[in-house]
Amino acid sequence: MADHSDIEWTDATWHPITGCTLVSEGCRHCYAAQLAATRLQHHPSRVGLARINAAGEAKFTGEVRFNADWLDQPLRWKRPRKIFVCAHGDLFHESVPDDWIHQVFAVMALCPQHVFQVLTKRPERARDYLRFLSNRDDLVAAHAVKLRQPPIAEAEHIRIQVMRAVRLPLPNVWLGTSVEDQAAADLRIPMLLQAPAAVRFISAEPLLERVDLFRWLAPSGQWNRDNPPDTGLHWVIVGGESGRNARPMHPDWVRTLRGQCLAADIAFFFKQWGAYLPRCPQYADEFDADEAHMICSGLPFPEEGVLYRDGYFYDGVVHQPHVGVGAYWVARVGKAKAGRLLDGRDHNGMPGGATVGTPARSRAPSARAAL
Ligand code: SF4
Repeated sequence: MADHSDIEWTDATWHPITGCTLVSEGCRHCYAAQLAATRLQHHPSRVGLARINAAGEAKFTGEVRFNADWLDQPLRWKRPRKIFVCAHGDLFHESVPDDWIHQVFAVMALCPQHVFQVLTKRPERARDYLRFLSNRDDLVAAHAVKLRQPPIAEAEHIRIQVMRAVRLPLPNVWLGTSVEDQAAADLRIPMLLQAPAAVRFISAEPLLERVDLFRWLAPSGQWNRDNPPDTGLHWVIVGGESGRNARPMHPDWVRTLRGQCLAADIAFFFKQWGAYLPRCPQYADEFDADEAHMICSGLPFPEEGVLYRDGYFYDGVVHQPHVGVGAYWVARVGKAKAGRLLDGRDHNGMPGGATVGTPARSRAPSARAAL
């Protein structure tokens, strides 16, 4: 857990549960598995949760762990903040028992001063859990009383208070799902929309192709803490991939999502480019790999390459015939240098205008961040 975070759209991370398993393409280079298999491999919260496989990739083993010592951390944070819940796992992983989820909800119910950002790749279980949460309010309340350890005379008061707070949707719990490609969007967004939540958000990170959200972006109205809408999407976060095996992100994919959010009056947050920074578009509308090969031949491969709008990436190493449009030079400059400017500015949209916690941070614009 950390009472600060480098993740641009949150203030702090909280890890009551760690461990996970790969779900889809977006998990391929999971940062949490990488940490659990390397730098944190001997930490009690991570021992045995991930390993480096024969191909040299970090993979979760499927074991999940409840970190009881960290459970009450948000209760001790007095200043209101946005808290990313289970940033190194998935609260709704199939191996997480309901009882652990009850305990996490007990803490969230006891902390109305904070906003809890729950991001899952398992929106089906999230939906099912939340739909029946009001039937579980007694279980959640029992955990809350244990956490508070009140004198017997006050225990009943706390129990009732929490049972009241666990009415849906919880105003301080934002529920999101990850959408890295269209297949993930088609599968997960309908389930997210069926979940009772004060705020529903999409994290399109790592964004791996053009994604169309139009059919789900019915205007949901202005988000209001006292009267949150219970339908629609309220926030879209977009980010590229970083790390050793990062895949590049095409700027038109990001612009498309930005445009869709603008049209539907949905908050849009551009988190970062990731390892690759788009440098300039090709001027020819059509650009085939033979031309790319000629133009790229003087460049220091594999640090630069050409990314087409359809996702084909020509890095000068694997040469296959390809004709595509929207070719962009991309350079591997690393996440810090790539920055988070899109068309010359940052995009820090948040539901409610980031009224809780500290404002989204802007990284210093990089000299090479031409977009
Ligand atoms: S769901 Fe998240 S934490 Fe789990 S493997 Fe995928 S990327 Fe990693």
